Amino acid sequence: MSQDLYELLGVGRDADADAIKKAYRRLARQYHPDVNPDPEAQERFKEISLAYEVLSDPQKRASYDRGGDPFGGAGGGFGQGAGFSFTDIMDAFFGGGAAGAGRGPRPRERRGQDALIRLEVELAEAAFGVTREIKVDTAVRCGTCQGEGTAPGTHPIPCETCHGAGEVAHVQRSFLGEIRTLRPCPACRGFGTIIPEPCRECSGDGRVRSRRTLTVRIPPGVDDGTRVQLAGEGEVGPGGGPAGDLYVEVHTAPHETFTRHGNDLHCTVTLPMTAAALGTTLTLPTLEADVAADEETGSGLETSFELDVRPGTQSGTEQVLRGRGVPGLRGGRGDLVVTVVVETPTRLDPRQEELLIELAAIRGEEAPTGQVRPGARSVFGRLRDAFNAH
Ligand SMILES: [Zn+2]
Ligand SMILES: [Zn+2]
Repeated sequence: MSQDLYELLGVGRDADADAIKKAYRRLARQYHPDVNPDPEAQERFKEISLAYEVLSDPQKRASYDRGGDPFGGAGGGFGQGAGFSFTDIMDAFFGGGAAGAGRGPRPRERRGQDALIRLEVELAEAAFGVTREIKVDTAVRCGTCQGEGTAPGTHPIPCETCHGAGEVAHVQRSFLGEIRTLRPCPACRGFGTIIPEPCRECSGDGRVRSRRTLTVRIPPGVDDGTRVQLAGEGEVGPGGGPAGDLYVEVHTAPHETFTRHGNDLHCTVTLPMTAAALGTTLTLPTLEADVAADEETGSGLETSFELDVRPGTQSGTEQVLRGRGVPGLRGGRGDLVVTVVVETPTRLDPRQEELLIELAAIRGEEAPTGQVRPGARSVFGRLRDAFNAH
């Protein structure tokens, strides 16, 4: 360990025992494996626990201050059971005296809840990414008391009912004998301290509601229902505790041309019968056209593409254009599936009718028989067949 132990706890070299304990408690709440499963946090928790082990012990601290190695010789170190048990940690958490049956007073400061907000974006914005400003209403740390919950110049005082333990013994007599249980202290609600004069701004809660404007980056390729996480932007906890996360749930508005299936886009193009028969080239808008005006994401994007319709194209034909769909969150791009619908001409004038009759005659189609094929069998039909078989 090369880092300075005082730096690790974020305290000055002249910090007293109380300040060191307070600093460790604050860090432990942030990095303890029970609240923070991140492996890096666990490493950090070991380091700060080691620093606390040394600096909370007057003898070890004095040795460390003289430049000595407080772990010299013994080969100790945190995590090998070198005199730093879980109880010690619990003591640090709960202010000592927790070694008995109880859990001691609970901290006023707790992590806040996660918050969820819905954000509606256009299909093209979900596909190509967008930066949006959003307004969020969450609890933030009270600026008047900095989360302490106390009026300026006042401090929490130990609870007289439980003498700071946060819990009181409760004895019940039953036919089995006396049952003694510990219950949260009703006077201080288990905190072990009482706020004699609550902060007026937050009524002692340590947090106030506030409306903020946040900038959120929606990455390209998000789908309907994707949640984008903004760490630490959720609700600040009671007692000004660390904020939860904010989740922005993306919802895409329906698009007038394209529908999305996974990373593929689907659209329908309607063609006159003559064009389908003769073949043609169509110019169709891309989804990119929607964001082409956007300076950040739209520069250099193709706003249209050409679709070749081969002579003799049938109604219902699907044309798949590779790579013209939605970019995937992990790279790649879906396809664009264009379904061609051939329109039969209606409201023919006499001349058009004459031409079509002539065309039919040339093609020998004046009296078509129609080709009959089996249709898809309904569930009802299959049931009836199954029933009749018995
Ligand atoms: Zn306050
Ligand atoms: Zn109490």
